Amino acid sequence: MANPTLLILAGDGIGPEVMAEVKRIITWYGDKRDMPFDVTEDLVGGCAYDKHGTPLHDDTMAKAQEVDAVLLGAVGGPAYDDLDFSVKPERGLLRLRKEMDLFSNLRPAQCFDALADFSSLKREIVAGLDIMIVRELTSGVYFGEPRGIHTEGNERVGVNTQRYTESEIARVARSAFELARRRNNRVCSMEKANVMESGVLWRQVVTEVHAKDYADVELSHMYADNGAMQLVRNPKQFDVIVTDNLFGDLLSDAAAMLTGSLGMLPSASLGLPMANGRPKALYEPVHGSAPDITGQGKANPIACILSFAMALRYSFDAGSEADRLEAAVEKVLADGARTADLLGPEGGSPISTTQMGDAILAALDASL
Ligand code: NAD
Repeated sequence: MANPTLLILAGDGIGPEVMAEVKRIITWYGDKRDMPFDVTEDLVGGCAYDKHGTPLHDDTMAKAQEVDAVLLGAVGGPAYDDLDFSVKPERGLLRLRKEMDLFSNLRPAQCFDALADFSSLKREIVAGLDIMIVRELTSGVYFGEPRGIHTEGNERVGVNTQRYTESEIARVARSAFELARRRNNRVCSMEKANVMESGVLWRQVVTEVHAKDYADVELSHMYADNGAMQLVRNPKQFDVIVTDNLFGDLLSDAAAMLTGSLGMLPSASLGLPMANGRPKALYEPVHGSAPDITGQGKANPIACILSFAMALRYSFDAGSEADRLEAAVEKVLADGARTADLLGPEGGSPISTTQMGDAILAALDASL
């Protein structure tokens, strides 16, 4: 059978620095676990603009559509701040998401025990936390028409439209139920059915999809405002949360911060299955290009490495290998390895991006 294919788009700023550590881990899987990947690399973001005058060349877009999974580092930086909106680095990322139709955005909020004191919440509330937020990514109020700013009488009016079709709700609900089956089998759906018709439809469709195909999964519903409160009151009550684009944007950022540093947060964006059964997929850390620390060897590569662990689990059906990689990360943190962003108020001496990669590779070796 042909090797699985990966397109690496390391991007700008610290993107190439953190991706360099992921590449070493990909090589490790080929050498030590007999899981060779065919890897191609290309440009996205500011570096693509510098070379091609566009943040995502059509050839790169075409490659992204062909591979089994795309791994992205980060895009953007101060050098590109004044570019026209149509060629800003972020447009490259948005084009990938749109043309690959990546409607299901998975943002895990997982609190490694060694970092529980980093959370703004008490240790006992977050230690051992492991929840997954599934955010609808390609529809809802960020895309709905009509939109714009117009004048009515003597004042300006801003308009955005929350719009969801049944099929858009059903496919992201399916994605959440499928995910729950691989985890603790519970889904909580969040909307505002008390005040929004789109929320009423959301609740109806999620309930119908559940009854038809996923009755074995435990389903609950919650108003999104209560959900926000519950996330900070008792986040461990959740397993998988599924919600729309706007609420998901807010809830996933709040949940992310339960776990401490931005340098620790992976994500996956999934679309419909391809001919080979694998979903269209893009994996990327939540953080940006961190221009303030670029080129200094300070970046924490863990978010990018955990994004590759998500690829192992969701694109390559290698859940036990994803567990192995996550356990290696957990071990190095428990042993006290810290990049600068992970130093607490008590300080200590940080290790570099490469040294963190070394430590994780050593923990992987030790796992064999
Ligand atoms: P950022 O995530 O790049 O950085 C925020 C802060 O977190 C900085 O102090 C940075 O040093 C720190 N940080 C981020 N990742 C880290 C890591 N792996 N290790 C250690 N510290 C880390 O957000 P920003 O400063 O608002 O944005 C910088 C640039 O990145 C902008 O051009 C922005 O548009 C872009 N951006 C890109 C993405 C993406 O590619 N998905 C996401 C967010 C921002």
